[in-house]
Amino acid sequence: MRKISMVVVLSLMMVIGFLTGCSSTTSAPKTGSGDVAPDVKTIQDRGVLNVGVKVDVPKFGYKDPQTNQIDGFEVDIAKAIAKEVLGDPNKVKLEAVTAKTRGPLLDSGDVDIVAATFTITDERKKSYNFSEPYYTDGVGLLVKKSAGFTGLKDMNGKTIGVAQSATSKKAIQAEADKLGIKVNFLEFSTYPEIKAALDSGRVDAFSVDGSILQGYLDDSTQILPDRFSPQDYGIASKKGNDGLAKIVNDTIVKLKSSGELDSLRQKWGLK
Ligand code: GLU
Repeated sequence: MRKISMVVVLSLMMVIGFLTGCSSTTSAPKTGSGDVAPDVKTIQDRGVLNVGVKVDVPKFGYKDPQTNQIDGFEVDIAKAIAKEVLGDPNKVKLEAVTAKTRGPLLDSGDVDIVAATFTITDERKKSYNFSEPYYTDGVGLLVKKSAGFTGLKDMNGKTIGVAQSATSKKAIQAEADKLGIKVNFLEFSTYPEIKAALDSGRVDAFSVDGSILQGYLDDSTQILPDRFSPQDYGIASKKGNDGLAKIVNDTIVKLKSSGELDSLRQKWGLK
């Protein structure tokens, strides 16, 4: 009899727990006014933050082909944002993006935020909300060791491979103008295609941010010391999702002021 009443009491407790939602230990974060902004509420109801990340940029967003796990500095930042939005850093769903797909995936709502070496520009700020910068890189050049180039200055008349929708072409063009040299460009939709074009001799150099070039460096190639046009990376969200943009920016500000951003940079061996 005692055993039966225990079972009844336990079952009742479970039902009450279920109804009041006490299985969830995290409370929904609030915006400044005390209410949760509708765009943030949508994410909280879904229970997961969808994040666009790179999968081919070592130390930033990189998918280990052995484990299929995506890790990096930007993944850690995304987790810090998920902690603020959902109370749990692990409630992130990572989606692979490229320079070409990250904007459209934000537009379509497939991802809530993009943490993918996305340079803040005035032009892009017209379409997306950007957080404060969390990292600054520069545009660089990957060349064949056998070509004997020491810098962009040696590349008069040469062809440079760049990605569509990237800031690289404009940066290199500005630098070439300063140097008084003429360079040609070939545009590709993905980085592996540019590397293949470099290997086959269709282009003389592969240009993009230094961090991205690291992923394509091999025995036959080198990254030249030149760095052009500072690239400030920001976390992007869709215009209109202003509640989310505020939490994202507050998170970056907090990571900076607490020293956690520096710790993360050190963790990933970034300058
Ligand atoms: N960071 C540069 C940009 O946003 C290079 C492209 C890339 O991030 O893939 O255009």
